[in-house]
Amino acid sequence: HWAAISGRLKTEVGEVEYRTWLRQITLGPLDEDELVLFLPTRFLRDWVRGQYGDRLQQLWQGETGFVRRIELQVQRNKAVVADDGEVMPAARIEAVVEEPVRAAATDKTSDLAAPLDPRFTFDSFVVGKPNEFAYACARRVAEKPSSPGFNPLFLYGGVGLGKTHLMHAIGSELTRGGRVSVAYMSAEKFMYRFIAAIRSQSTMEFKEQLRSVDVLMIDDLQFLIGKDNTQEEFFHTFNALVDAGRQIVVSADKSPSDLSGLEDRLRTRLGCGMVADIHATTFELRISILEAKALASGVIVPAKVLEFLAHKITSNVRELEGALNRLIAHANLFGRPITLESTQEVLHDILKAHDRRVTIEEIQRKVAEHWNIRLTDMSSARRARAVARPRQVAMYLAKQLTSRSLPEIGRKFGNRDHTTVMHACKSIAALMERDSAFAEDVELMQRMLES
Ligand code: ADP
Ligand code: MG
Repeated sequence: HWAAISGRLKTEVGEVEYRTWLRQITLGPLDEDELVLFLPTRFLRDWVRGQYGDRLQQLWQGETGFVRRIELQVQRNKAVVADDGEVMPAARIEAVVEEPVRAAATDKTSDLAAPLDPRFTFDSFVVGKPNEFAYACARRVAEKPSSPGFNPLFLYGGVGLGKTHLMHAIGSELTRGGRVSVAYMSAEKFMYRFIAAIRSQSTMEFKEQLRSVDVLMIDDLQFLIGKDNTQEEFFHTFNALVDAGRQIVVSADKSPSDLSGLEDRLRTRLGCGMVADIHATTFELRISILEAKALASGVIVPAKVLEFLAHKITSNVRELEGALNRLIAHANLFGRPITLESTQEVLHDILKAHDRRVTIEEIQRKVAEHWNIRLTDMSSARRARAVARPRQVAMYLAKQLTSRSLPEIGRKFGNRDHTTVMHACKSIAALMERDSAFAEDVELMQRMLES
């Protein structure tokens, strides 16, 4: 019967579908009118049940007349070593593995992989020059996993530039509609799982689980450097999966050739698919990312503020995002609009950490330029207001923007006394209080120097 039924199925669903899903079915016991069919993994079982369950039942009923119910169960193909060390053929396993044990195994499968963050999608990923290649590769893998030339996909780049985001996006895209089984985990978790499996003498099961997925994604592979046993295990898993036509996606902070401490054979295999790097962000990309996130939040963030942030926080997207989120939370909490001033206040600590070191010379140069005096007048003895005022502004800014002491600042301004510097700071602050146009000028200068 089975030969006739599987032949029918093959013509109905096509050779490819048949080979992918249905060929793995094996016949189980028949009990009165209920027939058991086995599939090697839980994923396959669920898939076949969902897609072909009804049809299978119809076909069996039509063919035999007496099979009324089809029960799909998981049964591993390989022989399994039982607790007492006896090697059992596959056919006997189902009898021994009873319900509670099977439930436990199922739990392990579900927490084998980390859940995917639903916010990390292709749609929410902002594409620009620095990441367009990595993005295109990720999209390609999500559309057509295991394409030649794209397996493995190796994504690398600095911290917070979107590697994890892209991996989750691939995973979400592929699991949507239950088309493919995806396991995503950090290299750290991989190692932890592997060690736990050794301890509980279940490495076999661990391997089975890993090797039953269609797409395996390992994040932050640099974590495996120096962990030789785990690397070895990963290498074998990697080979088994690639040989079986499954897709591997790996991320790291460096390219395969720069990951010193990785076994050569693993390095070689990692580099033989597609290697895509994510470069540091550009100002343009940072602006686009901020615009997208501000828009999504529904809070109005002035362009001036976005530019300010994109200037100040250049290291990674996570921090940029964190800064913006804090601004938005603040605006929501207090119902006040976001301004440049409130931004500087709210993000005081973050901005301080990102302060570029401004030198006193730089301050002198910019101030002299702005107020149209000669740079030498910063240290000259001239006391004319047109010269003395900008000089005081420069001293004030030196105090605001650098960590120099008053005497140190004084020395840079023609060996003036620290009391002169203190006096300059007080006069400028007082003048800024009285004259808002002047205050604006000085603040603008300060912002320019800070960015
Ligand atoms: P990595 O894994 O490279 O360290 P992540 O993927 O964790 O970096 O990204 C850090 C944060 O920045 C995440 O919240 C992510 O959504 C965001 N992010 C990074 N790049 C982009 C981008 N191009 N568009 C939108 N968000 C991004
Ligand atoms: Mg990451």
